[in-house]
Amino acid sequence: MKNKLISLLLLSTFIFLLIGQTFAQIMPKNADPKLWQRALAIHKKAIIIDGHNDIPSPMYDEDFDLATNSKDKFHLDGDPFHTDLQRLKQSGITGEFFSIYVSRTYAENGGSGAARRALDLIDVVYRAVEKHPNQLIMCRTADEIRKAKKQNKICALIGIEGGHAIEDSLFALRDFYRLGIRYMTLTHNNTNNWADAHRDEPRNNGLSDFGKEVVREMNRLGMLVDISHVSVKTMSDVLDVSTAPIIASHSGARGVADHTRNVPDEILKRIAKNDGVVMVNFYPSFLDERTNNEENERSKRLKPQIDTLKEKYKDDKQAYNEAERKLFAENPIYMPSYTRIVDHIDHIKKIAGIDYVGIGSDYDGIPFLPQGMNGMEDLPLVTYEMLRRGYSEQDILKVLGGNFMRAFAQAEKVAKINSRKVSGEGSLRKIK
Ligand SMILES: [Zn+2]
Repeated sequence: MKNKLISLLLLSTFIFLLIGQTFAQIMPKNADPKLWQRALAIHKKAIIIDGHNDIPSPMYDEDFDLATNSKDKFHLDGDPFHTDLQRLKQSGITGEFFSIYVSRTYAENGGSGAARRALDLIDVVYRAVEKHPNQLIMCRTADEIRKAKKQNKICALIGIEGGHAIEDSLFALRDFYRLGIRYMTLTHNNTNNWADAHRDEPRNNGLSDFGKEVVREMNRLGMLVDISHVSVKTMSDVLDVSTAPIIASHSGARGVADHTRNVPDEILKRIAKNDGVVMVNFYPSFLDERTNNEENERSKRLKPQIDTLKEKYKDDKQAYNEAERKLFAENPIYMPSYTRIVDHIDHIKKIAGIDYVGIGSDYDGIPFLPQGMNGMEDLPLVTYEMLRRGYSEQDILKVLGGNFMRAFAQAEKVAKINSRKVSGEGSLRKIK
């Protein structure tokens, strides 16, 4: 009996240690242990909002359950998983924007079903929250985010990526708001019928008249306008029209890496005046021009081999993915450190000010992360790097989520001034 008790005690100690181990953050190499502990303490205290996470797509397409351990696992398209419940917990995030990403294929070449795709993805997020009520909660307002933080729960926030999801209907836009959508990225990489994208034919000279109506209606509802993925002219038009703060949910600074997905300095300055936030993307090709150039060059160089692999494994997607990963591993490209994320934060701070920068990881939407980062669990590294560079605690709290919270609350205020009803005096304009 005594032996049994002792072994039970040993077993429970072991389990306790194991759990402790799982939730412990791994200190970066050569880090100052004292500073690391301080970073973790600030991180724990902060309201942390991540502007963009693409996990809803595999949740729908692959039936991925957030409770599954996703470490070292890959999506059907071959990209690595960065997100699961435990990793969300380890990241310290208070509110995660689950991206309702609608591919351009739903809008082009006679494509249809963009709004239906968005509805399906919204449902999988609600389903996940219902399935894991002790860890997750749906949040629609800044107040709900604060409340969730007190309850030690993670907010599931939802934003639409790709304005074609509303199928040119302000009626649908209002319905998406009713379902909890709190930002909309006006375009994905494709120009739609009312807004021009960053790397597509401009057809609207930025925002068309209807596009401006979409922005006004979003202001009236309290849905944040997101300028990630749009052209510079569209960014500028949005800033001319919007009466509420806007966001770039997952974009860096062009002043650090000259990529069309990043925000140029002149727009950064205007976002400061608009009281908006630019939330820095973690994708190495947006963080660093060298990575982008080498990635493009590698794609061109390896195209014949990739085509051969595609033909060879046309009936076995998994085998193809493995072969492609092996080929890429044999042909490595330059990979910046996670500290490059803070180079972008530094630049936005310099040009716009510390009050207008945030984080928008793009986890589960990108094929690789910067060196030192394997997934969401490594988010405290960003806090550590800011601390190491001498950022004050107050400034770090702003970047991690304080700035987003201010912009979000202000957008809610603008909506309340404009109208108290969702239908209200809402516009009835349509593109026929
Ligand atoms: Zn995106």
